Amino acid sequence: MGSGVRLLVLGKQGAGKGTQAVRIARHYGVPHISTGDMFRAAAAARTPFGLKAKEYMKRGELVPDDVVIGVVAERLAKDDAVDDGFVLDGFPRTRVQAEELQRLLGPGGLDAAVDIDVPTEVVLDRISGRRVCRTCGATYHVDHPPKVDWLCDKDGGDVVQRDDDKPESVQRRLELYEQDTRPVLEFYDGLNLLATIDGVGDPDDIFGRILDGLASVGRSPLPAPPAPQ
Ligand SMILES: [Zn+2]
Repeated sequence: MGSGVRLLVLGKQGAGKGTQAVRIARHYGVPHISTGDMFRAAAAARTPFGLKAKEYMKRGELVPDDVVIGVVAERLAKDDAVDDGFVLDGFPRTRVQAEELQRLLGPGGLDAAVDIDVPTEVVLDRISGRRVCRTCGATYHVDHPPKVDWLCDKDGGDVVQRDDDKPESVQRRLELYEQDTRPVLEFYDGLNLLATIDGVGDPDDIFGRILDGLASVGRSPLPAPPAPQ
């Protein structure tokens, strides 16, 4: 049984959002619900909205807001999320989605929105410095290369930069994120639910800042996390 905490985590690609979302979920004993996993699971389980979403993805089209919301609503209606709470990761992406989520959860339905804030130059450096093994997908960074000349430590495969990680592509995605997500942050700030966390530094320190930040927004104080088993 979890703590009933209902949170969502926002942040740019490369901000370390996923890692922190998992830690927060573990801390409070609630399910971690990432958008990617949720869509894959809904499509596999052939839920009504899962099937619709799959159609759009198969055609390579953007899944429209009402279908995205439908998938989220189906997931949040499951027992674990209803009884225990949740940490949403990667949703909402747009202001419309944020408003729909608020309607879905009702007033007092969300405890806080955590924004892991990392300057654009920092994530640009993290992502554009990334190198990936063609064979096994192991990741390296120009500051932490494999031992021998860009050959994978595990299998000797070529370690290269993916096209997606080239600065122009990253810059474009970051601009899109800024354009779509800035209004989401403003929306939660207006509801006094936004906790902006400095996302630069040691992951343990960042996690500590998140817990401090959560103490100062939204439904305060948050229910205590469940006692360790
Ligand atoms: Zn490899």
